[in-house]
Amino acid sequence: MAKYVYDFTEGNRNLKDLLGGKGANLAEMTNLGLPVPPGFTITTDACRHYLAAGVVPDGLEQEVAEHLDALEKQMGRRLGQADDPLLVSVRSGAKFSMPGMMETVLNIGLNDESVHGLAKQAGGNDRFAWDSYRRLIQMFGKTVLGIDGDLFEHALDALKGKRQDTDLDAGELQGLVETFKGIVHEQTGKDFPTDPREQMRLAVMAVFDSWNAPRAILYRRQERIPAELGTAVNIVAMVFGNVGNDSGTGVAFTRDPGTGRQGIYGDYLQNAQGEDVVAGIRNTIPLEELERIDKRSYDELLGIMETLENHYRDLCDIEFTIERGKLWMLQTRVGKRTAAAAFCIATQLVDQGLITIDEAVTRVTGDQLAQLMFPRFDGGADKKKIAKGMNASPGAAVGKAVFCSERAVELSEQGEDVILVRRETNPDDLAGMIAAKGILTSRGGKTSHAAVVARGMGKTCVCGAEELEVSTSEGRFTAPGGVVVSEGDVISIDGTSGEIYLGEVPVVDSAVVEYFEGAEPEDELVKAVDRIMSHADSVRRLGVRANADTPDDAARARRFGGQGIGLCRTEHMFLGERRQLVEDLVLASTDEARQAALDALEPLQKADFTEIFRAMDGNSVTIRLIDPPLHEFLPDIVDLSVKVATDGATDKDRKLLAAVKRLHEQNPMLGLRGVRLGLVIPGLFAMQVRAIAQAAKEVPGARPEIMIPLVAAVQELESVREEAAKILAETGVEALIGTMIEVPRAALTAAQIAEAAEFFSFGTNDLTQMTWGFSRDDVESAFFSRYLDQGIFGVSPFETLDREGVGRLIRIAVEEGRSTRPDLHLGICGEHGGDPDSVHFCHDVGLDYVSCSPFRIPIARLEAGRAALTYSDSDTR
Ligand code: PEP
Ligand code: MG
Repeated sequence: MAKYVYDFTEGNRNLKDLLGGKGANLAEMTNLGLPVPPGFTITTDACRHYLAAGVVPDGLEQEVAEHLDALEKQMGRRLGQADDPLLVSVRSGAKFSMPGMMETVLNIGLNDESVHGLAKQAGGNDRFAWDSYRRLIQMFGKTVLGIDGDLFEHALDALKGKRQDTDLDAGELQGLVETFKGIVHEQTGKDFPTDPREQMRLAVMAVFDSWNAPRAILYRRQERIPAELGTAVNIVAMVFGNVGNDSGTGVAFTRDPGTGRQGIYGDYLQNAQGEDVVAGIRNTIPLEELERIDKRSYDELLGIMETLENHYRDLCDIEFTIERGKLWMLQTRVGKRTAAAAFCIATQLVDQGLITIDEAVTRVTGDQLAQLMFPRFDGGADKKKIAKGMNASPGAAVGKAVFCSERAVELSEQGEDVILVRRETNPDDLAGMIAAKGILTSRGGKTSHAAVVARGMGKTCVCGAEELEVSTSEGRFTAPGGVVVSEGDVISIDGTSGEIYLGEVPVVDSAVVEYFEGAEPEDELVKAVDRIMSHADSVRRLGVRANADTPDDAARARRFGGQGIGLCRTEHMFLGERRQLVEDLVLASTDEARQAALDALEPLQKADFTEIFRAMDGNSVTIRLIDPPLHEFLPDIVDLSVKVATDGATDKDRKLLAAVKRLHEQNPMLGLRGVRLGLVIPGLFAMQVRAIAQAAKEVPGARPEIMIPLVAAVQELESVREEAAKILAETGVEALIGTMIEVPRAALTAAQIAEAAEFFSFGTNDLTQMTWGFSRDDVESAFFSRYLDQGIFGVSPFETLDREGVGRLIRIAVEEGRSTRPDLHLGICGEHGGDPDSVHFCHDVGLDYVSCSPFRIPIARLEAGRAALTYSDSDTR
């Protein structure tokens, strides 16, 4: 029979799929002998079953009852027992951390009787018992019964007035419990459920349901977490941080998640329960101060943090509670960190002998490297600093201040850059956080919701800027010195220093970009990047080339570590002043006139290629012959029609208009382009091949490769190839001749095409377009958001290669192409060549290289290294 419930003593950290991250790590800590309150985990299998069928699986309730019985025996109290109650928390915990996205209910088991038993347990502490009870009704009401949480908050605020929540006495809290019960009755028409087991059962289902809450769905999409995983549910014996001043709750990191530096790093809140810390109800104190308050617990905590770091061999974040001087661990996990910290920590751990350099490479990602290549503020620029907060997530962000999530979304959809300013954020702000360039809060520490979520997204964030008075309702904030910033005013925030500036501050390149440009590594971060990149380069099997078609791009590509050009598009070489020659070519009515236009273009093309060969200094340069339809180089049909309709049009204008009309296509992407153009316009490809050959002769060591676009049938390729080979032979230049594989038919007939091609380069932009039947220029803005919402795909197939469809075609082409020609050289030059996940696919499928834009080269190098380390067993070559 299926097993749906695991005691903490039964699990371990490798069971995240089944027990979720929280459950697996609670089990791991339990087995390490750390002080974890006893409990058990309901598996993600049970959740998936519930979400699919609408009912919990058979046997689950029985299993839960058995584990609860065992927990009651172990604790010597029954759930909700009137005179001495066991209370439990019901906590969500998915495989991947989704901070604050799903639900948790604390203090389950309290009712009008057991509240007295709890007070007795706590040595007659009535205040604590009633505070716990009001929290249960509040959390249960909001989470399980779906009541608007503001109703409870407002009632609490009204009672508190200007006081702190800790100033409320037992009588007031008892009154609040009655008020809260009234809210429940009014909103649901029913009484607050008092049966402890019923409370627990309903809370479990609410946690299951919270997997599909809109904010959780949005978060998963943003973080690319698969929608079908579901969440586990942890039922944990309650320990209390709100019993008095000898109790409290906190969060900590084993080292600084912003920089990686070792040290004491966390927040503590006396006399409080877990949710108070993250919600920013009261301001936390730095963890160091716990030493003064409770040295024994503090020392024990530091010891546990060291144990965890050594055990997990990584930065861990933890949640703990102290109940009357006794420390309890409520959670740990390998902690989220900034991109900079990820690189620094990885190399620090190598130096500490905890991980190998191979492992260090797998511990960082191309996306993190991309974040480090973001610009930062210009140090020399005039800046008007108005306040300083905490440097929660690095980067430099400039935009108009907005004070609510909806407005952030609205303005960003209109193309405005915005900074979302809040007192503190909560999970409902997620859409605004995604839309904003940066996030600024006046409350909360580096472990607050805003900070954690922004770091996860790689978004600039300054939090806890307490000097700011933020008024969301008035849409403005006030900074010291009477500076008022209203909605729409531009501000700049520095997530690395925490500084906030009025107006727009100019931004400059990152130090990491400067390093890639050739600067010596100096600071710790750049040295860490250097070490990791060098190792990635030494282990990767994939070559990395650039998509570059100007000498500048080619030179940058070399500096960034590109090992050649994988795609030199030649179409831009037909623009500008050269349009004139293309017009002549199109208008030519005789062979001689056409040849004259081509003859005029040839030396210009030769000069283009010469410069690129020089910049690439003996590395391969794959030059793709012209691809787009010729009418793209002619004047716009509307402009031309207007001109012809008015006085002053020349005879040439009239002929041009006729030509534009003749060349007009309903579906230009499927029309006269690529190899088809080469076959239809005699001499066009020959001119380009001659220019390549002449240029190669001039640059010693030049290594041209000639690439034919849009081939669908070997016959197309054969005739172009024959002509090109002849020109190369005549000029005595050696060059590989190959083709792009960007039409599904080419992939499916790769065995034949390889007869005529020495290399294939997968043009996955067109291949995706034609495999899905998606117009690459239209669909992303037209309806992809709907497709993403409906989960038809989790990410645009133009961004990350669709392994199932497009990937399958690539696999077929690789296998069949190599069956014809075992030494067939294989690469990719669509946008996917610089996308981390797609680079792993390219490694896996056995390509020789990826080619991407110069700025993506470091990312591709790193990911190729990671792929080699991750996939070494499943290598298909
Ligand atoms: C492609 O289609 O993937 C490709 C690289 O060519 P282009 O983007 O120029 O069509
Ligand atoms: Mg293409």
